[in-house]
Amino acid sequence: MSDSVRKLANLAARVAELESERELTLRLAQTDSLTGLVNRGPFTSALCERLEAARAEGGRVTLFIVDLDRFKALNDTLGHHAGDLFLAEVGERLRCDCAPGELVARLGGDEFALIGADVDVAKRAQRLVSLLAQPHTIYGRVVSPGASVGVAVFPDDAADAGDLQRFADMALYRVKMQGGRRWSAFDAELRAENLRRRTLEAELRRAIPAGEIEPWFQPVIDAADGRIVGAEVLARWRHPEQGLLAPAAFVPIAEELGLIGRIDEAVFEAGCARAATWVADGLIEKVSFNVSPRDLLDPAFSRKLIGRLGRTALPATALTIEITETFLLQDLALSRRHIERLNAKGVSVALDDFGTGYSNLRAIMNLPIQTVKLDRSLIGDVAKEPRVAKLVTSMLQAARALGVRIVAEGVEEEAQAIFLRAAGCDRMQGYFFARPMPAAAMDAELRAPRAVAPVTRETIGRRARS
Ligand code: C2E
Ligand code: CA
Ligand code: CA
Repeated sequence: MSDSVRKLANLAARVAELESERELTLRLAQTDSLTGLVNRGPFTSALCERLEAARAEGGRVTLFIVDLDRFKALNDTLGHHAGDLFLAEVGERLRCDCAPGELVARLGGDEFALIGADVDVAKRAQRLVSLLAQPHTIYGRVVSPGASVGVAVFPDDAADAGDLQRFADMALYRVKMQGGRRWSAFDAELRAENLRRRTLEAELRRAIPAGEIEPWFQPVIDAADGRIVGAEVLARWRHPEQGLLAPAAFVPIAEELGLIGRIDEAVFEAGCARAATWVADGLIEKVSFNVSPRDLLDPAFSRKLIGRLGRTALPATALTIEITETFLLQDLALSRRHIERLNAKGVSVALDDFGTGYSNLRAIMNLPIQTVKLDRSLIGDVAKEPRVAKLVTSMLQAARALGVRIVAEGVEEEAQAIFLRAAGCDRMQGYFFARPMPAAAMDAELRAPRAVAPVTRETIGRRARS
């Protein structure tokens, strides 16, 4: 063999080596290392290819989305390694159960998917549920988290891969919410729900620039003298046909569509403009805004907010940002960065809805927050349930010791207000004092001449009735 031929042969061998290395890397990037199943990317491509083929041949494609039910509890009690072992077991079961032509994938977390052909939907879904309901032993412990399944069929339900996945997800969500049977298929009820959401989406996209989302204000009362000392800003949508809508009617869908940031911005801008004059006139000290956990996931959130605040007339020291404990705990490091950046500019941070989750008290108290808002679920029973009364009293003591201010939310009755004041709560908010109101009504409320007196049974009552 001549020298140049040998060189050429070596080169060819090296190229082949590199090629197979590249293939391996590519395959690894497309496979989930825990279960050996394909992951979301290649799964979506495969789904598109199958829809293409079904379209050409007039066939059907069925998509099953599978989500484990109590996986988080398993992870929390037995640890992440046990969780991983269980996910591998689920992957193995699904793979072994696949009929020829079916494809199974791990979409992420404890979510899996299976593409089937023209199958009996009820039978196949029920089989998946039974398969994953069988117990498994990890570290000598028998576990059986169980699973829920959502199904959608091409072309009966959806015309493309995006809709097919969304519809199977909607069916899955319904199973999760309703309990009972562990699987559900997309149907007329979900089709109507989907249409309702699409309409709402289009309307919301129009409503934000049209200025239909407005800030309302709920007074925050100083328990010592019954004066209004602040306000919480709450979003309302003045819908042209449906009238005034509360956040429950549009915040969840805005979060899902990624529109919540724009709503929060609009509410912030308009809310600051109104509140700035009340602060400048010495009528209130503080105004607080809610932000969505989705906004907070943006690492630049606090920097952007400070920039936005600079374009309003509101002093930073008059601003409080309310953050829910679920978010704080979700990402402690990011929360701390946001809070420290806001604090450095003089902006306060309040922990919202305290007492609703399974709080990691120590983790929360280590964060430099200024205020804790006691959730109304606690306040509701404070004057009736001695155990709740004790709990709230000790929370108030702890907060005082830590130098954190407490605002009691959802105060609806005089008895609650009196109890809270006696227990040392310094700020209150609730229907007993005032409901959320539009800016003009708040302005009138603040400018109305009113005798200021310490809160007694009588003055609290008078304040609430006037
Ligand atoms: P939240 O931050 O816990 O706000 C307090 C909610 O409790 C408000 O409901 C308020 O109207 C209501 N409330 C106040 N006092 C009482 C009372 O005495 N009894 C009862 N039963 N309810 C009382 P709203 O305005 O419907 O807002 C609901 C939630 O929507 C808020 O809960 C907040 O999480 C969210 N939200 C409101 N505005 C915005 C916003 O601009 N942006 C974002 N991201 N979320 C918002
Ligand atoms: Ca709030
Ligand atoms: Ca709250």
